Formats: sequence, structure tokens, C-alpha cells
Amino acid sequence: NTTRSNSANKSTSGKYLKELLPATNCLHPLHRKFTRLPHLAGTEQNLRYAEQIGKEWLEFGLDTVEMVPYDVLLSYPNKSQPNYISIVDQFGSEVFNTSLAEPVPEGYEDVSNIVPPYSAFSAKGQPEGDLVYVNYGRTEDFSQLEKDMGINVTGKIVIIRYGKIFRGNKVTNAMLAGAKGVILFSDPADYCAVGVQSYPHGWNLPGGGAQRGNIFNMNGAGDPLTPGYPAKEYTYRSNLENVVGLPNIPVHPIGYNDLAISCQKDFLSLFVAVSFSPKVRMNIHTNNQVTRIHNVIGRIRGALEPDRYVILGGHRDAWVFGGIDPMSGAAVVHEIVRTFGLLLRKGWRPRRTIIFASWDAEEFGLQGSTEWAEDNAKMLQERAVGYVNADSAIEGMYTLRVDCTPSLHTLVYDLTKQIASPEEGEEGVSLYESWHKRDNWTNDRDAPRISKLGSGSDFEAYFIRLGIAAARARYTKNKRYSSYPVYHSVYETFELVDKFYDPTFKRLRAVAQVRAGLIFQLAESQLLPLDVNQYADSLGKYAQSIVQLAQRHPQEMTKYEVSFDALFSAVGNFSVAARDFHERLQTLNREEHVIFAPSSHNKYAGESFPGIYDALFDIKNSADTAKAWEEVKHQISIAAFTVHAAGMTLTPPA
Ligand code: GLU
Ligand code: ASP
Ligand code: CA
Ligand code: ZN
Ligand code: ZN
Repeated sequence: NTTRSNSANKSTSGKYLKELLPATNCLHPLHRKFTRLPHLAGTEQNLRYAEQIGKEWLEFGLDTVEMVPYDVLLSYPNKSQPNYISIVDQFGSEVFNTSLAEPVPEGYEDVSNIVPPYSAFSAKGQPEGDLVYVNYGRTEDFSQLEKDMGINVTGKIVIIRYGKIFRGNKVTNAMLAGAKGVILFSDPADYCAVGVQSYPHGWNLPGGGAQRGNIFNMNGAGDPLTPGYPAKEYTYRSNLENVVGLPNIPVHPIGYNDLAISCQKDFLSLFVAVSFSPKVRMNIHTNNQVTRIHNVIGRIRGALEPDRYVILGGHRDAWVFGGIDPMSGAAVVHEIVRTFGLLLRKGWRPRRTIIFASWDAEEFGLQGSTEWAEDNAKMLQERAVGYVNADSAIEGMYTLRVDCTPSLHTLVYDLTKQIASPEEGEEGVSLYESWHKRDNWTNDRDAPRISKLGSGSDFEAYFIRLGIAAARARYTKNKRYSSYPVYHSVYETFELVDKFYDPTFKRLRAVAQVRAGLIFQLAESQLLPLDVNQYADSLGKYAQSIVQLAQRHPQEMTKYEVSFDALFSAVGNFSVAARDFHERLQTLNREEHVIFAPSSHNKYAGESFPGIYDALFDIKNSADTAKAWEEVKHQISIAAFTVHAAGMTLTPPA
């Protein structure tokens, strides 16, 4: 498809790109408009926003807009029986109860339908027992507790601080260790930056705030009841009892006031509080419920390759107001649609079809995006050429963050050189330079750092499952994976962004320009702007780093005759094919989860050669060493085969 001749020549698209990037900015009023009311997935208000967005996209000039409903499993607190945790005395009386809700921020006192902090998909129950503190609840935290400290958590309630990894991985680890309940809390050490005040005076988490969030591990399944198929009216639904990935123990989040610790105090005080506490009882009554959700899907039909799709998708559902997550990103999508509409009015039409998506129920496990991917899997696999994710556009004030497939690195660098830095005092400096200065890739190359895609947002089904080249971009802080302080709390308001994160809305605009520019180039370049040489280069680096991991066990490597030769030879052949292919100015991209997957220890992080990585993980402590090394060999051969097959797709037919 990429070699078809294009009647619109290159200089014309260059002109439009210039018009697109400095677009005047409606981000501020858009963001204000969509953050006034809570709009949790499955609620009336979230449907109203969907209708409003759909209507405006049509007015902006999209060719078609449709509402696409699915009926999926969501989870809500029981309105008449609140969730809370108690400290109980020796007679079983509740002598202390955690708070039932967050204090509502000023100006929002009359707002109804604010869902209290809860862990979506928690099991119901009232477990009672001793409390054990397991730090961040990472794989290494549990093994340290069990192996080094000899503490067994079987039958205990564990208390885990938020941060570092996806909360669902914490709960899985706790379940595997035999815990009967999990308390998640926000430690000021992680959720209060030094020298910053608590909201509303600053952007730190107040002591009464807590982080909501789903805690399930469905491995990309989307709706738990309809794996592999879209959750339509007629779709067969599995029995809840047979669903794997839903937690079978109660889980609940609390803020640091409930632990009698305060912002800026260090973590030791919590330890004292916990070790003095007697038995704890959790009271959890959250219900799972099949609920209707709505994606909004808009299109601009491509002029020359209408059967090639470039997708810009981000979620609309929010835990409460969604000030940062997701409306900072949804406002960006809305602004991009508006700008593309202006271009359409000037007579422009992209070469390929552009699809805009406002996903629902991301917060409940990426459900809207995954169901639509399942609904359209065949078509997308054949026709989609790129997916750009548009969740929160900002999570810090430091610099740009981009995670993408290696074939898009070159496009990201080229593009950010054409965008202005949003930072004060950097007039005339490009976003690329501003980003490079703050986050150099150092040990890889002298360029701004780009990370591998993990998961935890809606690109998962498109990138990991369908193998579509994908990217995400946002403004970030100087620390990875742990979220910004007020993440998923009621304090994520319009004012949070307007007063602290981006008063001039320049950072959001820069992110809008990056996302729009990626979509524009993917939809408009005569040749797809995918760089197979860069992909080959990265494969070589991943192979180097996975072999280094294995080489920490030299004796076993010899004893079990483990060889990476086949993988290196496949990567070598792939690189040759990529170079040839590049020279022939054609492009084609095939990725599979053999190369990338969300880390099995932290859904937010990306792993390369995940099969080999997992086989090598903690291999020293495996019960059957010979068998474990057999699995390493098995995984190397799968990776070698996959890279070899990918290399063949780049080679011209004999
Ligand atoms: N983005 C949401 C979160 O981090 C959902 C992630 C997921 O279910 O993968 O809680
Ligand atoms: N903040 C998460 C992320 O972008 C997504 C979410 O919670 O919606 O990784
Ligand atoms: Ca499904
Ligand atoms: Zn979220
Ligand atoms: Zn989000």
C-alpha cells in the first residue's frame, strides 16, 4: 500500500503540518467544560459527555460519528453499606473506623455522585486478623519478607503502600502469598513532594485523600465475562465463578490521615502505628455489575487509502472529575479533532483514514478500548497502521515523556524538533532540545529517552494483542511509575491543572502538538513513517540485554547447554533484511508479544523478550533447576523463530 502514487505532493502536506502545530488553543475552556461533574464509567453523566463529544465532533466536521455500546462487568460500592476498615479490640468491638469519603474540595460541595475511594473488583467480605506491612507489595518485597525475615502472611491482612508498580500486581502478589485481605495506602513519602503544600494550596495529596483504582489482572482480556469476543447483547457470558484474574480477597484503599501520619513526616511513624495496632477488620460490600458503556468513534475518510487506519484514542471515564486523568488528555483529543476539522474546511483530506475514539471504562481494566478491538480485530489487523494513545496529557511539570515502538522513534525525534518548548525562558528552543537536556538517553545514545510501552492504558489491545505500531506522549515528572500525588482522588480538578500543573496550558498544547503531529504524519506521509532499521537496532539491544541476564548463571548455561546463537542469528538476519527493505523504500511492520509485553511484575512497565525474561526471573530459586533451564531454551527458540519470521516478511518474494 505504501508505494501507491500520491496526487497530493509532499510540499502540500508540509504546509498543513505547519498550520496544524501552532494551532490556537481552546484547551482551557474545553478542559473546564468536561471536568465540572463526576463521570464514572457506566453512569448517566458519562453518557451525557459521550453524547456531547459526539455532537461536537460532527460539528467540527468529522465525516461520521457513532456511539458504540457494550455491556461489561463493572464494580461499584454498595450505596447502603459503606466500605471501611476497623481496628477491633479483644472483644471484637470496632474502636477505630477509617473515613467513608474524602473531604470534598471547595466549590464542589453541592456535587452529588462522587464515588467514595474503593478498589474496583474487590471481593466482598469481612476478614479479620493481624496486620503485616509489605512495603510496596512488589515481588521482591514479598520474597524479602518470606525468605529473609521469615514472616509468613498466610491468613494475614497485608498493608501495602501505593507506588512503584501497578496496584493489581500488588494484590496478585498478596493473594499468591496467602493473604486474606489487602489495605492499600498512600504514604506521604510517595505522595507528598517536599516543599509543596496539600491541595488546594498545592498539588500534594491531602491526608483525607485516597487513590481509587481497579485491582484486577486480566492480562489484557477487557471485559472479564467475554474474553476474545465483543461484549454485545447477544454475546455469551462466562459464569463469574469461572473467571480468572478477579481477586478473591477484599481490598480497600485509605489515605494517610487514617494511619495517623502526616504529610512530610517520615515513614517510621507509620511502622510504629501499625506495630501497635491490634486486630483489624475489613468491611467490604462492593458489587460487580454488568453495565452499559459507550465508546464514541469518529472518522475522517482517507482520500487515497481509505482502507488504512490511523487511530487516536483515549478514555473519557474518570473516577471523579478527571482533572488530570483523563480529561487533560481528552481535551487534547477534542482540540485535535477541532483543528483537523478546520483543515478539512480548507480543503485538506488525509491520505489515510483517521479514527478518533473516546473510550469508556478504561479505569475498570481498559474495557471500552479492548471490546472495540475485539469487535473489529480482523479489520484492524489488516488495515490499522498506527495507534496513538491519549490518556492524561500531564503527570508532572518536568519534561516530555514518550513511550513507543522502536519503529516510531525517528518520527518522534523529527516531529519534536519542529515543536516549540513550552517552558518559561526557552523561547526559540525546540521541544526536542528541551526534552533532551532534561532526559538524555545516555547509555543508549545521545538523544532524549524514549521508553518501551508497558500497559495500564488503552493502547494495550492495539499494541500487544493486534501488533499495531503504537505510541503515547505526555508531560511528566522526574520519577517513573508512581503516579502524581492526587492521582484517582477527588482532588483531580480543573483547578489542579489551571493553578499548578499548567497555568498557561502551554504544556498541554505541546502534548497536543506531539499527538496531532504523530497522527498527521502517519495519516499523510506517502510512505509510512515507520523505521525498520531502528526496530532492528532495538532488537539487537534487547537481545544483548537478555543474554546478559542469562549470563549471570554461567555454570547453568554450560550445564544445560543454553545458547542464544539462534536468537542472535535471527536478529542479524532481520537487520540485513531491514536495511535492504529500507533501501527499497517500502515499509511493513509486524510485532508480537514475543518481543514486547507489560512486565509480569508491574503492568505499567514494558519488557522486551518477555518470555525469556520471565523464564530467567529468580531462576536460582526455582524448585526444579533443570526444568527451569529447559523453559529458558524453549523461550529462546520461540523468540528466534519470531524474529526470523519477521525478517522474512521484510525480504522480497523469491
Ligand atoms: N489506568 C488504570 C489504572 O492504572 C487502569 C489500568 C489497567 O486496568 O490496566 O488504574
Ligand atoms: N494514569 C494511568 C497511566 O496513564 C492510566 C489511568 O489510570 O487511567 O498509566
Ligand atoms: Ca470481550
Ligand atoms: Zn486512571
Ligand atoms: Zn487514564
